[in-house]
Amino acid sequence: MAKRTTPKPVRVVFLGGLGEIGRNCACIEVEGRIVILDCGIMFPEPDMPGIDLVLPEFTYLRERKDRVDGIVLTHGHEDHTGGLAYLLRDLEAPIYGSELTVGLARHRIDEAGVSDRTRFVAVADGERVRIGNVEVEFIPVTHSVPEAMAIAFHTPQGVILHSGDFKLDLQPVDGRRTDLSRMGELARTEGVRLLLSDSTNAEEPGFTESESTVGVTLRRVFAAQAGKRIVVACFASHMHRVQQVIDAAVASGRKVATLGRSMGKNVDLGSRLGIISIPDGVQVDIEKVDDLPPGQVCVISTGSQGEPMSALSLMATGENRWLRIGEDDVVVISAHPIPGNEWSVGRVIDDLHRRGAEVVHSGAEAVHVSGHARQGELRTLLSVTRPECFVPVHGEFRHMVHHARLALSMGLDPAKVLLCEDGDVISLDAKGITRDGEVPAGYVYVDGTVGDIEHGVLRDRKKLAEEGVVMAVVTVDRQEGILSCPPVIETRGWVHAAEAEALLGEASDVVGAAVTKALKDGAHDIEGLNRHTRKALGKFVGDRTRRRPMIVPVVLMV
Ligand SMILES: [Zn+2]
Ligand SMILES: [Zn+2]
Repeated sequence: MAKRTTPKPVRVVFLGGLGEIGRNCACIEVEGRIVILDCGIMFPEPDMPGIDLVLPEFTYLRERKDRVDGIVLTHGHEDHTGGLAYLLRDLEAPIYGSELTVGLARHRIDEAGVSDRTRFVAVADGERVRIGNVEVEFIPVTHSVPEAMAIAFHTPQGVILHSGDFKLDLQPVDGRRTDLSRMGELARTEGVRLLLSDSTNAEEPGFTESESTVGVTLRRVFAAQAGKRIVVACFASHMHRVQQVIDAAVASGRKVATLGRSMGKNVDLGSRLGIISIPDGVQVDIEKVDDLPPGQVCVISTGSQGEPMSALSLMATGENRWLRIGEDDVVVISAHPIPGNEWSVGRVIDDLHRRGAEVVHSGAEAVHVSGHARQGELRTLLSVTRPECFVPVHGEFRHMVHHARLALSMGLDPAKVLLCEDGDVISLDAKGITRDGEVPAGYVYVDGTVGDIEHGVLRDRKKLAEEGVVMAVVTVDRQEGILSCPPVIETRGWVHAAEAEALLGEASDVVGAAVTKALKDGAHDIEGLNRHTRKALGKFVGDRTRRRPMIVPVVLMV
């Protein structure tokens, strides 16, 4: 008699994106084999001085690299693909996603020189591929980058559906709608055992407007600004937005030029893949725009987030090589600042005003709509997929709390709705979902191209930024056991120069006395003398100024 074996639980490991917007990364584990779902970066927060980007922690994957069968991408945004170049240093695996998604992901991977450690597999809408021991199905969704997908994992424990980043746009620019009917079919036939869904806008009631409404606004704004030059800043990956800017430009008799490296690259990629279409003779080189009357020019630019070195920021400060902004210009910022970028965007808008330009942003005109589902759409997805279990993903903690509440209000079993955070592991078996431990999932900071930096480095940077540094150079005559000269005190960012001189002199006396006493008491090793120097100087600085700068003792034996 054949023995029926009950399938093992399927595990989901959340490595990032649950508790922050960014560094989305999860693992689906079936019988010990791993499929990675997205691998993104997070942009640094204001309290991370000098940090370029933040990665998920890959320790868990590094230790299991022989078990990884593939990497599946929902879409091409950096918070889902930007970490791949780093992950591929640790393991080799093929990458699956729509043609545009793998096209966008490729950029960084090629630049990092690790493309030989992967294989890019482009999948079509609705396609099912076998990756290791699991069937993976790609279901179209609408979002703020074309060709985004929800992913259905057909596992021995049933279907796990991940929404990806999505909205329910019924009038998308390319006519490709979120395939709710396929999701409904999955619910009816196999049933959705576990739904993981985008929480970004879970606090917002109602429905997100269609992307095509932005096109209507852009045409109106363009028409109202006849005779002026128009610069539109948006995300380079938002190719439908770029298309609508091109359409509005063409409708108002303007030529189009791109500005910013990624904008040029993505317009080329989009045109090659048939996502962006520019009528013949419309595109001109940015070098040529000064030869045209302002009313016949539209420039599409990067920098909508106020990034310091971006095309738009340089325009605002008058440092852009190609474009001088003045009174004949209208700048349209067709994006919302990502949390944390509000201040930089505000400063760019201010600087543009200072140059006499008019600025149109989403606070005044509907020149932007979100790419994420609001409560009405989240409810619709829950209602169509009728999941047995639910875990909100992709959001700050409060977004996930609201999303979980929403699911409960839709009648889901409270025992089958789990709030998870980065590092949490859940297990899906015949009974439902349970927590199954934790794995390391801290922030990994990247500064420059070289490598990851530690928490300690960041703590030092914050201290230096907030309090400055005081350094004491103490030179000891090794033979005599005395100071060879008075200690030299150097400081940056501690006290103003005028007050400094007297204080530095006193500090030198205090440190000199402390070291002399220590030498008399028999301390002759550098380490001990360092300790005495630090203590005396730290106390003096604290007593006299009530501040706590970084104290750096440097003891030299001569
Ligand atoms: Zn996205
Ligand atoms: Zn995202």
